[in-house]
Amino acid sequence: MKKNNEGKFKTFWFRYDSYEMKEIEEKHYITPKENSKVVMYDPFDFSDDILVDILNVGRFVEKNDIENAIKNIMEFVEKYGLLGELTYLPLNTDIVKQSKVYLPAGNLVSNRETLPADEYIELFLKCKKKQKVVIKKNTKGEILELSVENEMNPLAIIDRPAEYAVVFSRAYSECLVWIMHYARTLYLIFEAIENYSKAQDAYTRQRYDTRIKEFNPSKIACKILMGENKEDKPVIEWNFNSLKLAIDTMFALNETSERKTVKMCKHCGKPFSSENLKAEYCSPQCRNQANVYKSRAKNKE
Ligand SMILES: [Zn+2]
Repeated sequence: MKKNNEGKFKTFWFRYDSYEMKEIEEKHYITPKENSKVVMYDPFDFSDDILVDILNVGRFVEKNDIENAIKNIMEFVEKYGLLGELTYLPLNTDIVKQSKVYLPAGNLVSNRETLPADEYIELFLKCKKKQKVVIKKNTKGEILELSVENEMNPLAIIDRPAEYAVVFSRAYSECLVWIMHYARTLYLIFEAIENYSKAQDAYTRQRYDTRIKEFNPSKIACKILMGENKEDKPVIEWNFNSLKLAIDTMFALNETSERKTVKMCKHCGKPFSSENLKAEYCSPQCRNQANVYKSRAKNKE
């Protein structure tokens, strides 16, 4: 998806320049390293790369190649940051003010569907860091204050509720399996859409249909920004609650675009991106191999 062909987008996310994996209570968490540096960027500047990278993670998970899945996830978070599950998942929007979180059934973060906001936030603060997140409550359990000690608070430059300070802090972490599950689900939907037209029978098509219906992001908000000069074109400013929701959006735009730039290699099945709309293979090697097979098949006829 080329952002200039589809309207102008503007959004932001934060990433740290280095991450590590920690094992706590038999679960693996990914978190920024203690002295890593925070960087602000616009995910839409890298939309094709982000899509290809997350889909390739999903492909490794689906193939049960966990070693490569982990390697690719660590590269992914260093390039783009963690997914922002804390703000993606809740069904209600102002979790700190409401002091309560409503979660969709069957989520991987908690086996409860309603829980106090502070308990929910603690699920993302399993890795002990020098940087402290302070949650002050009254006797009724309502959150009075949620703040993050920080030498440079990213929230100082953006207008977002307090829970974002947690997501953008060095103390924040996400479980490896949450990222694996998301990447795999997205990959399976991608594969289903790619193969849909090739489905030979109604049963296969129905299986693909069921998968494609699993794609159901909610809570996408946007506004229109006029430029500084009156001749500037209007810009869509997306108010994404997470990198994950930004990826959902990139994915939906790519899958429905006439000018689809992230595709599946017709030979090896690997997701890849190409500016060339006719490109069908991820590499010259795959194109050559596919041609060899084609001519062998022809010679047999
Ligand atoms: Zn290939």
